[in-house]
Amino acid sequence: MKIICIGRNYAAHIEELDNERPSEPVVFIKPDSAVLPKEQDFYIPDFSEEIHYEVEVLVKINKVGKHINEKFAHTYYEEVGLGIDFTARDLQSKLKKEGLPWEKAKGFDGAAVIGKWLPKSNFTDLNGLDFSLHQNGEVVQKGNTAMMLWKIDELIAYVSQFFTLKKGDIIFTGTPEGVGKIHPNDYLSGVLEGKELFSLKIK
Ligand code: ZN
Repeated sequence: MKIICIGRNYAAHIEELDNERPSEPVVFIKPDSAVLPKEQDFYIPDFSEEIHYEVEVLVKINKVGKHINEKFAHTYYEEVGLGIDFTARDLQSKLKKEGLPWEKAKGFDGAAVIGKWLPKSNFTDLNGLDFSLHQNGEVVQKGNTAMMLWKIDELIAYVSQFFTLKKGDIIFTGTPEGVGKIHPNDYLSGVLEGKELFSLKIK
């Protein structure tokens, strides 16, 4: 199983990190070892002083596909979810400056939080999903998939030009503005269309 992540997919988040607006989706991969085991706390790793949360809508691929046409992309997933793309921002900034790959800042153990899955048939329009992240009970990120620069089906068509998608692969579709730092003893929870899909403690 692989995790394909999209960066810079929400205009306001691009501005807050002072990044350039991309002409194509920014894509990176997390290894399967990055998945935080269910019900486990997240331990801040020693190599970073600045771990950021990034709440993102997730899509789980349900069959093999390559060069998927956008028109048929919706047949490649049945479930949507919510998760966190934990990012060692200090390390990522350093790597970016040096023109090096981001993997160490994005693919470390526990860096992918994957919440409960919901059938996509629960929703009338996947391009209008409200979601939010709560830090110690306070809303810190709020987004709607309508604000994505590239929608779910466009992303599937795009990434499948490069990577064969396999059953069980997960796509992290990018984060809206409001990313921020986590601290020991924080409690994070994620809500999609009024349903809490994950919660975790930071150690
Ligand atoms: Zn992200």
